[in-house]
Amino acid sequence: MLAPVPVPPRHVDELIEPAGEEAIERLRDAASALSGARILELNSTNFGGGVAELLFSQVGLMIDLGLHTEWRVMGGHEDFFAVTKAVHNALQGAEIPWTLRMQETYLNQNRENAEAWSDDFDFVIVHDPQPAAMLALLEEEGRRKGKWAWRCHIDLSNSYPPVWDYYAQWVSRYDGAVFTMGDFVRPGLEGPEVFLVPPSIDPLSTKNCWIGDRTSHEVLVRYGIDARRPIVTQVSRFDPWKDPLGVIDAYRIVKESVPAVQLVMVASMAQDDPEGLQYLEMTEEHRDGDPDVFLLSNLQGVGNLEVNAIQRESTVIVQKSIREGFGLVVSEGMWKERPVVGGNTGGIRLQIEDGVSGFLVDSVEECAARVGELLADPALRATMGRVARERVKDRFLTPREIEDYLRMLVAL
Ligand code: UDP
Repeated sequence: MLAPVPVPPRHVDELIEPAGEEAIERLRDAASALSGARILELNSTNFGGGVAELLFSQVGLMIDLGLHTEWRVMGGHEDFFAVTKAVHNALQGAEIPWTLRMQETYLNQNRENAEAWSDDFDFVIVHDPQPAAMLALLEEEGRRKGKWAWRCHIDLSNSYPPVWDYYAQWVSRYDGAVFTMGDFVRPGLEGPEVFLVPPSIDPLSTKNCWIGDRTSHEVLVRYGIDARRPIVTQVSRFDPWKDPLGVIDAYRIVKESVPAVQLVMVASMAQDDPEGLQYLEMTEEHRDGDPDVFLLSNLQGVGNLEVNAIQRESTVIVQKSIREGFGLVVSEGMWKERPVVGGNTGGIRLQIEDGVSGFLVDSVEECAARVGELLADPALRATMGRVARERVKDRFLTPREIEDYLRMLVAL
């Protein structure tokens, strides 16, 4: 129960170079108000998924800032995670069967974790729905201490009402609730004070750190991608909301005027994710044997370094989502000075200012037109890439996100 997750030590000073001195000074200033505070980050997994990736970068930095920060993961049985996966979908709008049995499975697992709780933190940040009920269970037993914030990483604006109503009773107990953007806040949410904190990328991670041309070229060679010809890339799960089929359609339109163009689609595949595998097969079918379309995944050894290399070597990056949470891949591409063409939805709209730091598109045709425009105009690509990197530097790097959290804790 509540297993501690060891994190690598980090030094905030290492971020001065990529993020700028001012950002680090602001961060230190925010931390000084909390000096010595005991902070717990609580979620349900220490690997896979954006939350684990964010915590892995951030907890070590918070410790270096003089905050006694710990990251712990709640325990859960398989049936609990089956329920919370359904809950995740429902909170994003899917209609699911929501039975008393499911509610019981959820609550029992939270109760088991609450029983194992014997700690004393000044602040607890709870991520996502899985451990959300623990606070209420501790309160019932008079064991609640400190201030609690619920960090919701998903879009609640269209949640399926029966499931949201059930969660509202847990969420209402929190002191603070944190959302990626205003559009994601559940209308009528009662109880916690609402804070908006967009996610961020770690400029020093293997995925985002600087790597030389030689390394990135080697990666292209390994996968048979031609570095001398234009490369259009989308990195995302094979998922209908990421619209991989639409990306291929847009590429086909572009190909009519730029026959040399290649399309690289990278997805991480969990072997136990039948939905992903099924969508990969559909995408493969849609590819229809085109040798200039590359479908790559971790099954072929594409990890963080390879993603970094492929993003860097891309002429244009696409993230043609139809619906999106934040879309970390957009900032990842922008940080590498690439022009990004993104779906006009969710957090992509926070990241790209249309026509300035990238393009926002609403259809396959518009996507093809913008990609074509960028392929034909190296000067536009260079300017947009530079503006894009500056935008990420100002708004979407790790120090800003930690600073936002710390200011929230001070406010609480
Ligand atoms: N990612 C990866 N390999 C892949 C596909 C995705 O490393 O084959 C990473 C990607 O670089 C990003 C994260 O997974 O860091 C996906 O986050 P995003 O917010 O874009 O989308 P999500 O999958 O959370 O909806």
